[in-house]
Amino acid sequence: MMPQSRKSVIPIAAWVIAGLVFLLLFMMMNWFFFQEAHPPFPWNVVLPAFVPLIAGAYVVLIGYVYGDARRRNMRYVMWTMLAIFVPNAIGIILYFILRDPMPVYCSRCGAAMRNGFAFCPACGNNVLPACPSCGKLLQPGWTHCAWCGVQVGTK
Ligand SMILES: [Zn+2]
Ligand SMILES: [Zn+2]
Repeated sequence: MMPQSRKSVIPIAAWVIAGLVFLLLFMMMNWFFFQEAHPPFPWNVVLPAFVPLIAGAYVVLIGYVYGDARRRNMRYVMWTMLAIFVPNAIGIILYFILRDPMPVYCSRCGAAMRNGFAFCPACGNNVLPACPSCGKLLQPGWTHCAWCGVQVGTK
């Protein structure tokens, strides 16, 4: 199988922003709850740690939508905006329902193409094993082409 993507899906910027959001909220929560108020037990742990964690995870999720929509050749700017501005994560949920299937990338020219193509439409590179005689897809382990009968070698 060819590698599906060559770099990490979530951009580094999203991790950095998520870290900053977490730190900022964590400091704000701590300052607020331990200077101004003294909440009872579960809340003095949950509020300063849990709320910033959720906010940070939300930023990472938006970063994932951005990176994932981009590698699927979708309108990633629109989807990132929806993920950010539609409240209650509805934009993110919609994205996971409506996203396109993963394209396969040519190992030679990097062009995106539909899964199951034997040859790259952009450069003609042989992506999946194909019969040298008739060009149809071969299954792993075949010694002869099932379509035209030509010998395709032993693996
Ligand atoms: Zn190609
Ligand atoms: Zn054949």
